[in-house]
Amino acid sequence: MATCWFAAVHCAARSLTPEGNVTQVHPIGQCRLTKRAEATCHTPLSRSTQRSGPQVSEKIWNLLWKRSFDLKFYELADSVSAPWLGVRIKRLAASRRSIFQEELGYIDGGTEVLVEALVRGIEANGGKVLCREPVQLVEIRDGKVVGARTPNGWHDADHVISTMAIPYVTKLIPGLPDAHRAKLEAIRNIGVVCVVLKLRKSVTPHFWVNINDRRIEVPGIVEFSNLRPMREHIVYVPFYMPQGNPKFSRDDRAFIDESKNVVKLVNPDIRDEDFVDAALGRLRYAQPVCEPGFADKLPPIQTPIRGLQIADTSFYYPEDRGVSESVRLAKQMAARIT
Ligand SMILES: Cc1cc2nc3c(=O)[nH]c(=O)nc-3n(C[C@H](O)[C@H](O)[C@H](O)COP(=O)(O)OP(=O)(O)OC[C@H]3O[C@@H](n4cnc5c(N)ncnc54)[C@H](O)[C@@H]3O)c2cc1C
Repeated sequence: MATCWFAAVHCAARSLTPEGNVTQVHPIGQCRLTKRAEATCHTPLSRSTQRSGPQVSEKIWNLLWKRSFDLKFYELADSVSAPWLGVRIKRLAASRRSIFQEELGYIDGGTEVLVEALVRGIEANGGKVLCREPVQLVEIRDGKVVGARTPNGWHDADHVISTMAIPYVTKLIPGLPDAHRAKLEAIRNIGVVCVVLKLRKSVTPHFWVNINDRRIEVPGIVEFSNLRPMREHIVYVPFYMPQGNPKFSRDDRAFIDESKNVVKLVNPDIRDEDFVDAALGRLRYAQPVCEPGFADKLPPIQTPIRGLQIADTSFYYPEDRGVSESVRLAKQMAARIT
C-alpha cells in the first residue's frame, strides 16, 4: 500500500517559533519542560480590577484584549469565537506553577530534532521523504484517491493525507465534491510576517510581553532566549494581519525597521548598535480565524473520497496552533490508514 503524506513535516526554517507553548514530545529527542518563563503585560491592570460590573468588564476588555485582537485580526477582530480565546487562556494558565510563575517548554535542539526523528521513522519503515517536490494535483477516480502529480512525475497512492494550509489544497484537488470544497474554502486565515532579531543585550527579563501602547502596532514581542538560554538574545516581533492589508506587502526592510523601533520603545536602553542581525519569515496562511460556531463549520478530516484526508491547523479547534496539537492530530490521521 502506498501512502503519500504531504506537508506533514514542519518547515525547518521555522524551527524557532515565537509562541512558545509547551511542546511535550518526550519520545523524540530531549524535551526540557522545567525552564521558568514569565509573561507580562506592558500596561498595569490594577486600575481595572478594583470594581466589578459591565463597565469594568468593558474596561478590562479594552485594556487587556481589544488592542491585541485589533492588531492581530484587524477587520476580522469581531469574528473570533470565545471558546478559542478561552482555550488559549486555559492552556497558559495550566502551565503555571503558581499565579506568578509560568513554566513553558521547548524541544532541546529546536523543531529540527522533531523533523529529523520523523524522517528517520518514515525511512526506517520503508517510506521516502521527497523535498522540494510540491504536489500539483491529487487525482480521484470512482470516489477513491489514486495518486498525486509533482514536477518530477506521477506517484501512485492508495492514501493521501494533506496537511498543507487549506487555501492551497482545494486548488490541487479538482475532483473534490462541491459541498466538501465549499466548507474548506469557507475557512479564513490571516497571514504573518515574523521578524527575528538578534541582539547584544536582553530587551526584557520576560519571555512574552503583551503590549498595549498606541505608539506600537504589534500586540506583543517574544524574547525566546529568556526561555531557552542562548549565547545571543533572540527576539521575535510577529506582525499578524489579513493578507489584503496594504502593510502585509511592505518590503522586508520596513518590517525590520519597525521591529527595531518596537524594541527600542519597550526598552529605551537598547541602541542601534545593540542589533546584531535580523531575519524575517512570511506566511500567507498562518492563523485560522475561528469564528463563532467554528466546530460546526469544519468538515470531517476524512473526506467523502476514500483514502483522502485533509486537515491543517484549523482542525485543532478549539485549541490554537501548537506542535503538541500537530502531533496529536497526526496520530489520529495515521491511525485511519488500514
Ligand atoms: C508565527 C507562528 C508561531 C508559532 N509558534 C509556535 C510555538 O511557539 N510553539 C508551537 O508548538 N507551535 C507554534 N506554532 C504552530 C506550529 O507552527 C504548527 O502547529 C505546526 O507548524 C503545524 O505543522 P504542520 O506540519 O501541520 O504544518 P506546517 O508546519 O504549516 O507545514 C506545512 C508544510 O506544507 C508545505 N506545503 C505547502 N504546499 C505544498 C505542496 N503543494 N506540496 C507539498 N508541501 C506543501 C509547506 O511548505 C509547509 O512546509 C506557530 C505557528 C506560527 C504561524
